[in-house]
Parts: sequence; C-alpha cells; structure tokens
Amino acid sequence: MDLGLVGKRAIVCAASKGLGRASAMALAREGVAVVINARGAAALEETAAEIRAETGAAVTAVAGNITTEAGRAAVLAACPEPDILVNNAGGPPAGDFRNWSREDWLRALDANMLTPIALIRAVIDGMIARRFGRIVNITSGSVKSPIPSLGMSNGARAGLTGFVAGLARQVARHNVCINNLLPGPFLTDRLRSNAVELAEASGRTPEQVLEDRIRANPAARLGDPAEFGFACAFLCSAHAGYIVGQNLLLDGGAYNSSMG
Ligand code: NAP
Repeated sequence: MDLGLVGKRAIVCAASKGLGRASAMALAREGVAVVINARGAAALEETAAEIRAETGAAVTAVAGNITTEAGRAAVLAACPEPDILVNNAGGPPAGDFRNWSREDWLRALDANMLTPIALIRAVIDGMIARRFGRIVNITSGSVKSPIPSLGMSNGARAGLTGFVAGLARQVARHNVCINNLLPGPFLTDRLRSNAVELAEASGRTPEQVLEDRIRANPAARLGDPAEFGFACAFLCSAHAGYIVGQNLLLDGGAYNSSMG
C-alpha cells in the first residue's frame, strides 16, 4: 500500500529509541524526510545513521530536551513547515502521589501535556494553509485504564487527550488530523527499566515481571515497536484524512471491553 507520503516532512520527537524511533523509521520508509530529536546526541546520531542506511530518506538529528523552549526552537528551526508531527517524550516517574511536589507535577505536565500543545501551536496554522497535516501524539494505555503507580502520567496525558479532542474537530475541515496512539506494553528500554523497578519492589526478577505481563496479555506477547511504527505511519498517511480525534489503543487486547 502506498501511503502517499513521498516528499513529506516530519518532526518526530523523542526518537533515538523505542516507539519514537520506530515511528521515524516507518515514516522514512515511506519517503518522508524526518527530523528526529532526543537529548542524548550520540544515540540520536546513531539512530539517524541507521534510518538513513535502511531507508535512504533524509534524516536530520537535532539533539535537545523537547520539554524546553530551546529544545523545541531547535527542532522547529530544522523543520519550520512540517506536514507531520509526532509528539513524544519520556514518561513521568512512578511512585506514591503523596511524595510528589508541585515541581514534579509541573515537569510531568510540561513533558506530557504542554510540550505537545506548544509544538501543535507552532505548526498547525502552516498545515491548515497547506491543506495537509497529520499530528500523532504518543500517549499511553493509561489514558483509558489508569496505572495506579503512574499517577502523573495518568493525569498529564488525560489533560492532553481532552485538549486534543476539542482541537481535532476544529481543524479536520482543513485536512489536518490529530489523533493519539496509546501504547500498551511494548518491548522498549522504558518497559525494561519499569520491569527492573517493579522487580525490586516486589521481590521478583525483571524477567518474571515481563513474563507475568506476557501471560496476562491476550496476544500472549509484548508489542514490537516496529508494529507501533506502522500504525503511526498509517495515521500520518494520505488515506487517514477521515480519522479525527481518535484514541487508538495498541495493547494486544489487554484493555478489556466490548467496544471502545
Ligand atoms: P524509550 O524506549 O525509553 O525511549 C524514549 C525516547 O525518548 C529516547 O529516545 C529518549 O532519548 C527520548 N526522550 C526522553 N525524554 C526526552 C526529552 N525530554 N526530550 C527529547 N527526547 C527525550 O521509551 P518508549 O517505550 O519508546 O516510550 C515512549 C513514550 O511512550 C513514553 O512517554 C512512555 O511513557 C510511553 N509509553 C510507553 C509504553 C511501552 O510499553 N513502551 C507504554 C505506555 C506508554 P534521550 O533519553 O536521549 O532523550
């Protein structure tokens, strides 16, 4: 299937590893010129080289913290008129909400709500003028089914979801589509480090923690980040113009419900 994306330009945030990297790889495979970002320059350059080698696409690496004004300005300077924006950042830490200060909350809100909104604000009028735009926010299955230890993630991402639900319906008439992708358990560094923390707290090994997740999942496995990338590329495609304001869960069926 030709996704109709040859020659488009994308910004993919937090993309040296994991779900962001897989999204950038899938877009590059479709002929999209990608600007990728992460804080660590060495890993980011390595990923950029791998994407170039595998896809032949133009890949620009912009190192910086996407949750800062300076980080966002650098990314936007490298790609001032993107056709595609994939919002992503690290998730907030786990813990007991009694221990979280106002500053902790503001960091979570900055990373998982206000940064995506700031980037959307910077690019959306150009997308409207050019009559093509695709924005995908990488959020979490925790938006639909809260994870008790990840209260800051549950809260901040729900804020973004509510905002986007309204905005998506205001811009869809211009062929600008905003949707959210909600990962369940995908085998990335983030999932591995969560497993180490959970193992320490529960007296199990990280392998046992992951085994339990696999056993509990209807698909009987963890997600492959490449599967996430393909879903992201489809949502960014020319054919996805009637998918508006949706929250698409990719979790192997872990969220138990008859519909929605
Ligand atoms: P990952 O494998 O740990 O990769 C995170 C990527 O984001 C890295 O490239 C990291 O590079 C970059 N990054 C982190 N903070 C950044 C910042 N402030 N500015 C720029 N880049 C930043 O994580 P992942 O599993 O792909 O997760 C991506 C998002 O999905 C996270 O928000 C996570 O909470 C959420 N999520 C993941 C899962 C899952 O199962 N994997 C499930 C639900 C939700 P640097 O560290 O070098 O900056």
